[in-house]
Amino acid sequence: MSKYKTDRHGWSELLPARSMNNSLNGDHRTLWLVVGAGLTGLFAAQRLAALNPNENVVLVEAREVGQGASGRNSGFAVQHSHFPGAFDEGLINEYQRVNRINQTGLSLLRAAVATHAIQCSWHDDGFHHAAADNMALRECEHFHDYLQRLDITHTALDRDALAERLGSSVYSRGFHVHDGVLLHPAALVRGLAANLSSNITLFESSPVLKITYGKQITAKFPSGSIVADKVILATNYETPALGFLNRQIMGSTLSGSFTRELTTQEIDSLGCKRQWGVLSLHSGGATVRLTEEGRICLRNTAEYRGARLLSDQQLQARQTIHRKSFDRRFPQLRHVPFEYSWSGVEGISRNGTNFFGQLRNNVFMAGGYNGSGVSRGVAFGSALAEYAAGGQSELITDCLISKPATWLPPRPLLDMGAAYTVRSRFKGVGQDR
Ligand SMILES: Cc1cc2nc3c(=O)[nH]c(=O)nc-3n(C[C@H](O)[C@H](O)[C@H](O)COP(=O)(O)OP(=O)(O)OC[C@H]3O[C@@H](n4cnc5c(N)ncnc54)[C@H](O)[C@@H]3O)c2cc1C
Repeated sequence: MSKYKTDRHGWSELLPARSMNNSLNGDHRTLWLVVGAGLTGLFAAQRLAALNPNENVVLVEAREVGQGASGRNSGFAVQHSHFPGAFDEGLINEYQRVNRINQTGLSLLRAAVATHAIQCSWHDDGFHHAAADNMALRECEHFHDYLQRLDITHTALDRDALAERLGSSVYSRGFHVHDGVLLHPAALVRGLAANLSSNITLFESSPVLKITYGKQITAKFPSGSIVADKVILATNYETPALGFLNRQIMGSTLSGSFTRELTTQEIDSLGCKRQWGVLSLHSGGATVRLTEEGRICLRNTAEYRGARLLSDQQLQARQTIHRKSFDRRFPQLRHVPFEYSWSGVEGISRNGTNFFGQLRNNVFMAGGYNGSGVSRGVAFGSALAEYAAGGQSELITDCLISKPATWLPPRPLLDMGAAYTVRSRFKGVGQDR
């Protein structure tokens, strides 16, 4: 059980307490088992339930819903991904494929949030991509080129225009990309879990400890078991513990901080928009938001910690890095304390690919979205359910085309290589961090 640790420092803790679903007890039998109730698992289960209205789908979650990456991310649901580097004519199909997946995921998410009236601070006004220092400024040129060539609706912004919107003069150039949604990640997954179809049974705090694959699949839990005909693993970077992708997926630990709720006067100092988000044009740059409830949320660390969350002490130390970045961006708010810091683990591959497909007979998996898994997790989860049920669609084809992952070296080389890979995203970050 201790393998599936969590802490009390996620976005969930900004929400009222909720009562958890039961954990699994006793022995069960099901046609479909979905492991992992993040966005991938929730959408896979929901789609399976719709396709098999007379069958019960069992969804199991090791922790509490909202404590995985899906409830701990920065809440940017992207429609148009950023592909670093100069625009490459030869990659147009790839850019379009990924953006089609994002777009489908975002539409499915929009529909689910509207249908169930999920209160997750849904803010449908796109977000900003901005640059402060030299390397990101060079990337600005590439990004602008990409936006123009793919006809992506945007507004180009100079330093003054960005300062007027964000209350920070740290950024020299940037863009407001009009498509894309900001949301409260934990409120979203909680809301989705509370509105599952009646033929889905969700067990929380129910880690699969061991799984045996054969004609039937048997999953063992601390207090019971499930025998299933077909399994979807929506377990992100924890999939290796269930026997797959051992040398293909790993976890990178990110951290950020929230201020207390700002006063009206403090919010007024942040420009004309009441909610906004900024993604950096440098891969190691800070992700910053002014949230609906009036907090600034800033994330700017990433490290290899063997896919573990940070301890309280480590979080305290990372807060210094968050603080430096915050004070540089918002000198007018230097007096505002951080109320709260959090960490989360994202699933990454060495070559930035995603995972989708059949791992062996009747075992399917999707995940590992490299820090861009909100819209994509929704799309991959839905598509995987359809694929596992024998369906065909443009979305399935798009997901299947994801290129194979580059192999990760075995330990202890993995630890050194992973630490290096994660660290290298900060090269040349300068003022963007
Ligand atoms: C700090 C941070 C910021 C991010 N910001 C963004 C962002 O702004 N925009 C964006 O698009 N993406 C972002 N991401 C990435 C995004 O959160 C993920 O790609 C996405 O949530 C992955 O969804 P998932 O359902 O595949 O995996 P997860 O959300 O990780 O869900 C997997 C679930 O499986 C469960 N599980 C694992 N093993 C077992 C087991 N043996 N038994 C039962 N359950 C198990 C876990 O507890 C977990 O809840 C960020 C990630 C982090 C960590």
